[in-house]
Amino acid sequence: MRRPMIAGNWKMYKDVNEAVELANGIKRAVFDTENVDIVVCPPFTDLGEVGEMLTETNMGLGAQNCYWEAEGAYTGEIAPGMLKSVGCKYVIIGHSERRKYFGETEATIKKKIKAAIDNGLIPIFCVGETLEERESDKTMEVVKVQVTDGLKGFDESYLETLVIAYEPVWAIGTGKTATPQQAQEVHAMIRDLLKGLYSENFSQAIRLLYGGSAKPDNIEELMKEEDIDGGLIGGASLKVESFVDMIKTTSHLYAQVQ
Ligand code: PEP
Repeated sequence: MRRPMIAGNWKMYKDVNEAVELANGIKRAVFDTENVDIVVCPPFTDLGEVGEMLTETNMGLGAQNCYWEAEGAYTGEIAPGMLKSVGCKYVIIGHSERRKYFGETEATIKKKIKAAIDNGLIPIFCVGETLEERESDKTMEVVKVQVTDGLKGFDESYLETLVIAYEPVWAIGTGKTATPQQAQEVHAMIRDLLKGLYSENFSQAIRLLYGGSAKPDNIEELMKEEDIDGGLIGGASLKVESFVDMIKTTSHLYAQVQ
């Protein structure tokens, strides 16, 4: 059985004091929660402080992006090794906001996935279609290309830790959640694609998260779907109460099926 994951993407919210307060609140509420990998991804400037608070807890630290070189004259960029040095275990790669506002492409995303894995970080690789693509019936085709191109050339043992997040762009930060059926349909397609590209075992082991206006009142229905193994949460991860609620709902659900 795949272990579920609930990961919070704090985007460009929370200065270091606010981040410590939020992380502390979550930490206090989930210290005894089992069955779920809990991850928070604060802005770069908060990682050091939050990382220190999370050592030896059941919460993992993630970054929201990284560069692919180890060091050099790349003003403004952050290397995967630097993320490791402040306690990161995860890194979000290819988020649709990075694709849209910062020109990330399949080629740069692939380099970042490789850099992350080479440095022992777990990539949370984001894919998803725009509203226009969904309305013109291109969802499956678009997501298939994103997954295939992002992973091209890597073998399955190399990708062992990989996490994929399906995040329909039209659902991110809009309050419009994909229905559990819409999300499941794409998740099932991704799993089937991984089976074709690699193997049945690999496709069954990889965790597929859903992201896009997930919140306490829809998380349970989403998590009940067979191929949804957790959530990448934006807005609802910025408040202790809603994030913790989603973690606990997921934990209870998985405790029942174990
Ligand atoms: C995200 O940023 O990855 C996300 C899913 O955001 P939200 O939950 O706010 O839609």
